[in-house]
Amino acid sequence: MFKALIVEKDDEGKTSASVQEIAEDRLPEGDVTVAVEYSTVNYKDGLCIGPGGGLVRNYPHVPGIDFAGTVEASDDARYKPGDKVVLTGWRVGENRWGGYAEKARVIADMLVPLPEGLTTRQAMAVGTAGFTAMLAVMALEDHGIKDGPVLVTGAAGGVGSVATAILANLGHHVAAVTGRPETGDYLKSLGAAQIVPREDLAETVKRPLEAETWGGCVDAVGGAMLARVLGQMQYGASVAAVGLAGGASLPATVVPFLLRGVNLLGIDSVMQPYENRLRAWERIARDLPMDKLDTMIQPATLADLPGLGADILKGQVKGRVVVDVTA
Ligand code: NDP
Repeated sequence: MFKALIVEKDDEGKTSASVQEIAEDRLPEGDVTVAVEYSTVNYKDGLCIGPGGGLVRNYPHVPGIDFAGTVEASDDARYKPGDKVVLTGWRVGENRWGGYAEKARVIADMLVPLPEGLTTRQAMAVGTAGFTAMLAVMALEDHGIKDGPVLVTGAAGGVGSVATAILANLGHHVAAVTGRPETGDYLKSLGAAQIVPREDLAETVKRPLEAETWGGCVDAVGGAMLARVLGQMQYGASVAAVGLAGGASLPATVVPFLLRGVNLLGIDSVMQPYENRLRAWERIARDLPMDKLDTMIQPATLADLPGLGADILKGQVKGRVVVDVTA
């Protein structure tokens, strides 16, 4: 038997989440069984735990779109019992039981060996949000980050916090956009050189081009803010678009692309090939200061998850919620 957060749906379509003891034979098919140590709370987890079920296809369901732990049993030659592993993506926690349980069974291709220098707790302090932040930074680097400030939107959230810390550690002047002024000291402790109040970028686009300001941007917010930022990018600079915390519609014009050669780079963490995942995790171990990562952590247990799922959907979580599933 092992402990798991189970989300169930009743006959009226209402969902509810509770911590239950369940038998191992209920785990899905797969070739690697992992003793999960840590998972995290991401925006998608909020959707999967919350009323209506969000992205979940089948009930009962175990959410948790990422986890880190130790291999317990493996039918795949790449992994043996005792190996430390990390998982993000592959719709685990959405289409398939995920990390909010003491055990998970997955397909070996979905895993990555834990990079040297990271503990399972640190790997989950990074989690899907931080992994995505690293993918965004790598995409900006591939297209060239210009001199001058690099903007991070939704900075106090999970993706934004890790992007801020990585970019600052790489020597960039980070301008962190937040709607929560009280997080200013936290963002500065992560290395932000400048705090930009959300309202400065909230107004919808009036002029398609404004002063060339930002040398790059990691955008976790989307919507009207992304549209506004596009018109403020330097000539040839890139925006790595990661999320839609501020809305899915993009009320922009094509002018920044035509007259300033701005690049809009879409970042998807879910279907990354193994080599890219490995490269991103190795860069995380190298380029993300672990003392800064520690300041982002909000510890939690499985029992805290229903409340935290609601908080993240309201944009009220600061940094990264790390769930000790064994606690
Ligand atoms: P968080 O909730 O931790 O952070 C989002 C931040 O966005 C909030 O903290 C807040 O920052 C800001 N925000 C929230 N609502 C609004 C709003 N209405 N207008 C402007 N800003 C707002 O989420 P994550 O960082 O984990 O994820 C961010 C986004 O990225 C989500 O949409 C998520 O689904 C997506 N994502 C995409 C991935 C991919 O593969 N592409 C992977 C992981 C996440 P502040 O308070 O500082 O203003």
